[in-house]
This record gives sequence, C-alpha cells and structure tokens, in this order.
Amino acid sequence: MGISRLLILALMALAGWWLWKKVKSLSAEQSSSRLTQATPMVCCAHCQLHLPQPEAVRLHNRWYCSNAHAQAGPKHQ
Ligand SMILES: [Zn+2]
Repeated sequence: MGISRLLILALMALAGWWLWKKVKSLSAEQSSSRLTQATPMVCCAHCQLHLPQPEAVRLHNRWYCSNAHAQAGPKHQ
C-alpha cells in the first residue's frame, strides 16, 4: 500500500514536470517563431532586386528573383 501510493505520487510528479516542460518549450517556441517571422530578404544576383527568401530562386549559391534571371546568371558590372 505504501509503495504503490509512493509510486503514484512519483508518477504524478513526473507527469506534472513533463507537462510543465512541454508548456515551457511550447511558449519558448512561439516567442522565438514570432521573432523569426520577419522573413530574410535576399538580393537577386542579376537585377539586385530585394525579395523574401522563400520567393527567391537559388542557383549556384546565388539568389535570383525569378527563373529567368537564374538562367541569365549573375550580372557582371
Ligand atoms: Zn532579378
């Protein structure tokens, strides 16, 4: 009786600790994602247009605003 009660108490403490950790990491994740919500901007290697990275085309370690400019390649000045 004494041991099983202790076990239940230990399990409850563990569950509480796990839940607390989960809630803490969740809120940390939310605040960090809010901070990184500003999408990184990249510069087109051909026309120097700045655009959000998810919309950019990447080719040979360079960013382009469109497939056409990716095909055209970097513009040499
Ligand atoms: Zn471009």
